[in-house]
Amino acid sequence: MATFETEALVLKQFDLGEADRLITLYTKEKGKLKAVAKGARKGKKTRSGLVLPFSYHNFTLYQGRSLAKINHIESIAMNSKLRDDLDYMAYASVVSEYIERSGLEAEADQALFSLLAIILEKMAQAKKNELLFNFVIFKAKLLLLLGVKPEIENCTVCGKKVNLKKGAPLSVEEGGTICKNCFNQNEYYKSTVFSLSEMRVLYKIIFAEISQLKKARFSDQTLEKINKITEKFLVYHLELEPKSLSFLYTIRKMNN
Ligand SMILES: [Zn+2]
Repeated sequence: MATFETEALVLKQFDLGEADRLITLYTKEKGKLKAVAKGARKGKKTRSGLVLPFSYHNFTLYQGRSLAKINHIESIAMNSKLRDDLDYMAYASVVSEYIERSGLEAEADQALFSLLAIILEKMAQAKKNELLFNFVIFKAKLLLLLGVKPEIENCTVCGKKVNLKKGAPLSVEEGGTICKNCFNQNEYYKSTVFSLSEMRVLYKIIFAEISQLKKARFSDQTLEKINKITEKFLVYHLELEPKSLSFLYTIRKMNN
């Protein structure tokens, strides 16, 4: 039982009694953690009223037997846009839920923490037509961090180098590309054919530094394709299927 300091992002919150909130945090030092924000429901008059979903703060926490208590906060980024606009909120909710479901309690993962902090900040500053782009980057990097990124260069069945010039089928179940030989021997019906340029985009989004990726270089059509395949990878290989995805789909349908 001790007081400690950590940077953290707010993944979600629940009302607790008349004045307090129960907050789920993703912390830099201790992974996922639940904390009580005393007096948070009294609004922005109290410091803990600032502890809102998707916001980023430096916390001083007191670790009690089960829950932590917030002693002090210094705000780093409020990311207000993610709460004020439904489109932004829909994307941010799914991102937070992916982290909530994959992050472990009391186990720090600084790479996962940085990914969450960077993507939420980028989304809060993005234009509306850049939200999907940032969301796709998030999922591709999440796959990489969780060790199930799509294998692109070598056939996932026989291990030989795949000739990508004319495009190649990519199978979620096999975990990546399938060479012509293996494909002809055993049709992988559920695979999706990716062209060479789409493969390049996928490769780049997985491996390039986030700061090097610029929306203007990627077509919406390719992003939609990568959006689908990354979602399927997360469900099939890690059973990660956020409930908030249905909210995101509803919002996206309304915009189309
Ligand atoms: Zn093969």
